[in-house]
Parts: sequence; structure tokens; C-alpha cells
Amino acid sequence: TADISDPALGQVYREVLRRNPGEAEFHQAVREVLESLAPVFTRRPEFVDARILELVCEPERQIMFRVPWTDDQGRIHVNRGFRVEFNSALGPFKGGLRFHPSVNLGIIKFLGFEQIFKNALTGLNLGGGKGGSDFDPKGRSDTEIMRFCQSFMTELHRHLGEYTDVPAGDIGVGSREIGYLFGQYKRITNRWEAGVLTGKGLGWGGSKVRTEATGYGTVLFTDQMLKARGEDFDGQQVVVSGSGNVAIYAVEKAQQLGANVLTASDSSGYVLDDKGIDLALLKQVKEVERGRVSDYAQRRGPSARFVPEGRVWDVPCDVALPCATQNELDGAAAAVLVRNGVKAVAEGANMPTTPEGVRVFQEAGVAYGPGKAANAGGVATSALEMQQNAGRDSWTFEHTEQRLTEIMQDIHASCYETAARYGAPGDYVLGANITGFERVAEAMLAQGLV
Ligand code: GLU
Repeated sequence: TADISDPALGQVYREVLRRNPGEAEFHQAVREVLESLAPVFTRRPEFVDARILELVCEPERQIMFRVPWTDDQGRIHVNRGFRVEFNSALGPFKGGLRFHPSVNLGIIKFLGFEQIFKNALTGLNLGGGKGGSDFDPKGRSDTEIMRFCQSFMTELHRHLGEYTDVPAGDIGVGSREIGYLFGQYKRITNRWEAGVLTGKGLGWGGSKVRTEATGYGTVLFTDQMLKARGEDFDGQQVVVSGSGNVAIYAVEKAQQLGANVLTASDSSGYVLDDKGIDLALLKQVKEVERGRVSDYAQRRGPSARFVPEGRVWDVPCDVALPCATQNELDGAAAAVLVRNGVKAVAEGANMPTTPEGVRVFQEAGVAYGPGKAANAGGVATSALEMQQNAGRDSWTFEHTEQRLTEIMQDIHASCYETAARYGAPGDYVLGANITGFERVAEAMLAQGLV
């Protein structure tokens, strides 16, 4: 799998493979970016001379640590914690924390690598990083979650700071976990340092719209892709995967724009709701009760049915929004969506589409928005939270959402224009990768060899 058409880029990729054995998701994320960059390197020899690509593929710092904690029965558990501080050319390291049993160094590195370019696309001063743990929060009590977060932060705190590294949530880390993490950071450092974490509660430094931002932003980006083709969201049939924070607020915004959202899913299957997802019920089940989509199906009545083990991609739709996790949409699923007439696909999750799936969409002329552009609204709103913290200010929902909307329009416009400038109109993968990379590379060049 080492054959990238451009020989110089192939060399860089082989070095990444050699240096990071077994990290399949990281290899996948690097390869996808490298494959877009060949035209940049013929136009910008100074990037080649400064070895920017080799540098950008190597994290500035990688932290791995032990996280011991006790459960409610007093039994001791040991997990592994990670923070990969990938690139600080554009700002402090910024990116979420993921608590999920699938987490390992390769997963965190793929997420951190994506985060570099995503954060660059926001146009705000944010470097790239990611962290997390293989801790499985499923079935854990509130007090167990608290003790885990406290232990995790007991090590992580020494690496953080509002000008250094600013984590937020990701899968398995929401406002509850951010609260416990913030409390422990405050206790250890004796600093009420709002800007050290984002996704905080609204009463203590959080930003309005941060909870909604990733899902809203994904839909706003999709709306821009549709508008570029003379359409919009009104009346579209939409399929959403996932039922976490990103999925819920993608459903909300799509419905606000007049779409009919048919599905939601989790690891045990999906729910198909002919009348359209009942958002209040979905929020009650997922956000309040921390339940499953099968509970939703059971309570919703005859319009909904739960399909165990199934995949939402079998449901015919105009717009597909993968909002669950990496590599959830493969080539076969993409082919089914294309056969059923899908017009637009945008990634609310990070790298949910496999390389084969991306190829299928692009060859079929589907508008395909990669995660680093389409889901950048979350981290962009984190930057707005940091802005409010720095100014000891708190903006209204309307103002914050307006800023998010402008940022998503801006990201769409830059990707669209870059793709056109490089002779690949409508190719948002190329547009996002080149736009993000050029911003990071310029800053690295200006700041010298560090
Ligand atoms: N975890 C989110 C992402 O994948 C948000 C990160 C942040 O707000 O720092 O972009």
C-alpha cells in the first residue's frame, strides 16, 4: 500500500509507515492528505526545501500515561491516557479527548493529524492535538466517571494551559466530564483558568452553541454544498448515523432547515422513523437517560422500527450525514447510497468514510464534504469560547450562532475556491487538504526550524 503516485510524497509516506508501525488509521489519514498535496509541491518548492511535510507528519510531542482509578466496589482499574500535541504553528494545541475502548496511540494520532488541518480551516488561531483514553464509560456510575476524570487530569494537567494545550470533548467526553476535568485542574494548579478547556458548562465559562456546534456546522456546510449546486436543505430526505452529540444537533439543524430526517443509530443497530425523527424523544433518551436508540424505537410508536445490526446507509436518501465514528461507511455502503440517488454526503464524525467510499462518491459526482471541513464547527466554536473567556464575556445564542454560520460559509468558500484554483472544481477533499496545509506550512516556514 506504499504506492502514492508522486515519488517524493511516496517517500514521505513510506517513512511514516516505517516510523509508526501498525497504526492503520494514522496511515490512512496521512495518506489521504498526501494524495491531495502533489500539486502544491510543484508550485511551492520552498515547502519541499524546508521539509515541511516530514515535519508535519511527526507530532511535536506525544504523551502516554497510566490512569489508575477505583470503581464503586473498591476494585482497582488501570487505563492508558494519551495526549498527542501535533502542531502548534497556528496556535496552542487544540482538540478533543476521546474516552472509548477502541482508543490507542494510532487512533489518537489520526485524530490529531486531522485536527491540524481542520483547525487551520477555521481561520482562527488554533494548533492541532488530540487525546483520550481506552477507558470505557459504558455502564459506569457518575462517581466512577468523576474518579476516572480526576485521575486522568492528575497527570494531564502539567501539559496543559490556555496558551499551551486546550482540550475539549469528543466521543465519551461531554459537559459532565469536562466539569470533572476542570475541577481537578483548578484544584491542582490553584488557577481558575477558563481558557484551559472548552465545552464548559454555561454557568462557568462555557459558550452558548458549543454543544450544538458540530452538528449544526455539518448541516450548514452541507447546505452550502447544496447551494453551490442550486439546491438547499428544504424537503430533502436525510439519513444520519450516530445518536451522540454530533448526530442529535445535526438532526436539529436539518429539521430547522426543512429536511426530513429518517434515522439515528448506535453500535447495536439503527432506528428508521417514517414520520421523521422525534427530536424531543431522542434527546430525552440519549441526553437525559443515557439510553439506546432501541429505547427510542420502543417508545416512539408505529412510525419507528429498530433494525438490529443494520446500517443506515441502506435507507434511500438525498443527503447522508455520517456522525458516529471512523470508517463506518465503506465502499459497498457508498455504492448503495449512490445507487439510491444520494446527492450530498458530509462528515459530522472524523474520517467516517473509508478511502474506497470516498472514491465511490467522487466518481459518482456526489458532493462530498470531508470531516476536517464539514465538522469544523465544533472546534471553531471552541475558539469562540476561548475568545469569550479571554474577554470575560458571554455572547448571546443568536450572535454566537451567527459567527458559526459565517465561519462555516467561509470554510466552504475557501475549499471551493482552492479546488477550482487547482483545477478540480467541486473536489472538497483536495480543497480542504490544500487550504489547511498551506496555512500551516506558511506559518511553519515563517517560524523557522522548530
Ligand atoms: N472533538 C472535536 C473535533 O473533533 C472538537 C475539538 C475541540 O473543540 O477542541 O474537532
